[in-house]
Amino acid sequence: MDLFEYQARDLFAKHGVPVLAGEVIDTPEAARAVTERLGGRSVVKAQVKTGGRGKAGGVKLASDPQDAVEKAGQILGMDIKGHTVHKVMLAEMAPEIAEEYYVSFLLDRTNRTFLSIASVEGGMEIEEVAATRPEAVAKIAVDANEGVTEAKAREIVAAAKFPAEVADQITEILQTLWKTFIAEDALLVEVNPLAKVADGRVIALDGKVSLDANAEFRHADYAELEDKAAANPLEAAAKAKGLNYVKLEGEVGIIGNGAGLVMSTLDVVAYAGENHSGVKPANFLDIGGGASAEVMANGLEIILGDPDVKSVFVNVFGGITACDAVANGIVQALELLESKGEEVTKPLVVRLDGNNAELGRQILDDRNHPLVQRVDTMDGAADKAAELAAK
Ligand code: GDP
Ligand code: MN
Repeated sequence: MDLFEYQARDLFAKHGVPVLAGEVIDTPEAARAVTERLGGRSVVKAQVKTGGRGKAGGVKLASDPQDAVEKAGQILGMDIKGHTVHKVMLAEMAPEIAEEYYVSFLLDRTNRTFLSIASVEGGMEIEEVAATRPEAVAKIAVDANEGVTEAKAREIVAAAKFPAEVADQITEILQTLWKTFIAEDALLVEVNPLAKVADGRVIALDGKVSLDANAEFRHADYAELEDKAAANPLEAAAKAKGLNYVKLEGEVGIIGNGAGLVMSTLDVVAYAGENHSGVKPANFLDIGGGASAEVMANGLEIILGDPDVKSVFVNVFGGITACDAVANGIVQALELLESKGEEVTKPLVVRLDGNNAELGRQILDDRNHPLVQRVDTMDGAADKAAELAAK
């Protein structure tokens, strides 16, 4: 889960990384009072989850409260790389910036370790620096058990060749930044620029934090950090029901058991769609091993509620949960939905294979629901579902 800059700023402040005061607003007029509180001037910054805001005109300096209202008005609603700006952060204006550095910690999956990246050439073009002058970017592995001790921080400072007059401050900042990284279960904490300002202080002027969603269970506060406005309503509804669902751009609703099977179902449906006006899978939905009628009903309810869906492909390979249980689940799910007054009008193609497949198919045949057809091969069923969606 990527955070907005203002949320990253709050986490930095909480763990002692030096930041400037800041407040987030969503109307231009609110910029007036905030700028007054910030000392009469402010930096107006678009809050979007993408980099390069500065170059896109999403960071502007406001010289007084009225100017801040105008700048906020220009930035709110702006489109930055496909992200609409709904919020701006007003930050205390930094004293004149003398130098801009870059520091980050991240999980380095390739080398199975944590990694620190640091450069004295921070600012807006760090990717370009890394590409054209890799020697200007220091990369130091961080041992998960040892973490960033003072000695480790000094090693990073030396490798990146930070000037002597900021070495102590940056040594301290690296340790507090590491504390943020560990305590918040982050996958990335990045500061760019880490600025040396006119009075000699080193301050984090921009922050990027990505949290590990797998650690959500031990952070009650993660839920508050979620961007509910950006969440897809179908995904939010699925999440509330505990379903593993991802909305995609397509017409064939997909339900399967097991992430691997569902992934390959997406592939065969996309492939079959090439022969049927280019229809595509509408979603990923893995109902897991124990596909009870209730879970099936919840899954079908989400998928049938997607206006893009024209047909549904239920692809199940019976394992521990046998096909007869799944078939009963489908039958009961349709009855459950119909009893709730939710008329099922989209055709379902069901492929059952594996444990007790014959029994499962018999149950569907006996029920003989007008919208359910069974096709016993995965490719055949994908083709039928694509054909129905293309109609
Ligand atoms: P990004 O372009 O999305 O990475 O946004 P940043 O927050 O990094 O801002 C871009 C640039 O704006 C920085 O590199 C700074 O040069 C400048 N900037 C950001 N905050 C301040 C500030 O408080 N005062 C001044 N003068 N410049 C700032
Ligand atoms: Mn930046």
